[in-house]
Amino acid sequence: MNTIYTNARFYTMESRGDFYHACIVENGEIKALIRGDIPNYQGKKVDLNGACVLPGFIDTHTHSFEGGLYSKGVDCSNVESLEELFSLIRDAQPISDMIFAWNFDENSIAEKRFPTIKELDKVSLDLPLLLRRVDGHSCIINTKALHSIKWKYPISEPFTGLLRGDLNDNAAHWFHKNLSDESILDAYVAAQNIALKSGHTTVHTMIGDAQQDILHYPLMSQNLDNFIVEYILYPQSFSIEKAWEYDGFRIGGCILADGSFGSHTAALTAPYADMPGHYGTPYQTQEFWNKFVKEAHQREMQVGVHCIGDHAIKQLITAVEKAQKEKIGIYHQIIHCELVDDDMIERMARADVCAVMQPVFDRYWGGDDGFYAKVLGKERALSTNRLKSLYKAGVLVTGSSDWYITPIDALLGIDSALNMHNPDERLDIYEAVSLYTSNAMQITYTEYTVGTLCTQKQADFVCLDKDIFEAGNVKDVNIKAVFKKGVKVYGDT
Ligand SMILES: [Zn+2]
Ligand SMILES: [Zn+2]
Repeated sequence: MNTIYTNARFYTMESRGDFYHACIVENGEIKALIRGDIPNYQGKKVDLNGACVLPGFIDTHTHSFEGGLYSKGVDCSNVESLEELFSLIRDAQPISDMIFAWNFDENSIAEKRFPTIKELDKVSLDLPLLLRRVDGHSCIINTKALHSIKWKYPISEPFTGLLRGDLNDNAAHWFHKNLSDESILDAYVAAQNIALKSGHTTVHTMIGDAQQDILHYPLMSQNLDNFIVEYILYPQSFSIEKAWEYDGFRIGGCILADGSFGSHTAALTAPYADMPGHYGTPYQTQEFWNKFVKEAHQREMQVGVHCIGDHAIKQLITAVEKAQKEKIGIYHQIIHCELVDDDMIERMARADVCAVMQPVFDRYWGGDDGFYAKVLGKERALSTNRLKSLYKAGVLVTGSSDWYITPIDALLGIDSALNMHNPDERLDIYEAVSLYTSNAMQITYTEYTVGTLCTQKQADFVCLDKDIFEAGNVKDVNIKAVFKKGVKVYGDT
């Protein structure tokens, strides 16, 4: 059955300023795009009420499982006292017979402290309870969780309930591992519904956790067709053998070459400004990455690695340069790519290394008084998130949220890319939109099905209430509706 969508501007994202006035869809594919007068058409007609239509957004790096799961847990971000926290937990809906709360910040409550294990026992004695701190680097548990979790090493007494480092990972891993298949799939459905609201029709997502366990990869790959959003899965593991067996296309995501600026574990070539003499430490040797990238490359598997500091990024560029001597036409991904100099950018362009970026990081942490300037110094902070320089040099740059770290929201990402703190790194509106559409599609070889609007591609598109290219301010633009394979899956036209 054919449908014609009219009364809209269909921006193809195949080239600047290229748009059509109508689109005919057949069996979920774009059959024709029409400029000017609409022919006398016999099939079903849908009036899009003057919408600006873009290809459905693609987020190239998310932790959708956690994003979806957390949306079903107890969100403690607005909690102002322990009493308020306890009452939220008392009313919580268990997930697979466990209570999960997150986004807790002891500094923003009146008592300025974590609850104790005894206090948590008073609100949940029978079900294991895990309360995660806002940064995910520590958590508090109750006695039921203490006795249920299989610990890597004994917990020292007296135990207050607070876990950090390895033991925090141990607890989070246990919680994830004990979810029923139904709860796991539910989390992805919740994630999908959040992604659709912000215009996404394709979402890259990492499967696995800090312990490098691929967890529910087989479950998800068997159920992929049941989702409206197209999930592109990344087995987040160091085991090439396992990723090859499960997936065969790619490996990695947030597998770590270094840590974070916040914990001073991002690996730098010059010391931290706020910690003289400290460079952070790369998590792996150069030899490790050379071997890892080479092995994946030879199997034509794409590698994605979390690299924040310039030292870690250099390690990956070097490993890819070596692997690319055997030209197989595979792009490898540096995720985050937060600190690069001109020489590194040129090397990335030559070696076909893509930068999977999060423009919202600059919104949160950029600027003279921002977090980057504090840890790196004002001058070096200018070399963070170099969107325009990478783009200009011909590096494939894609946009992503790293959700749950920042909200899954392509329009927020586009607005951030237009307003980078460093004026030299600001993209123009076409480039910014391309991060979430035409550029994003190239990174996983999905360019024949999604990412731009042209004949024979999937009719995946997002309708905006204003023309994003003419609006002046992206903040004034809203999502009206989302179509996947020609079917309306969100909103109203
Ligand atoms: Zn990530
Ligand atoms: Zn990461």
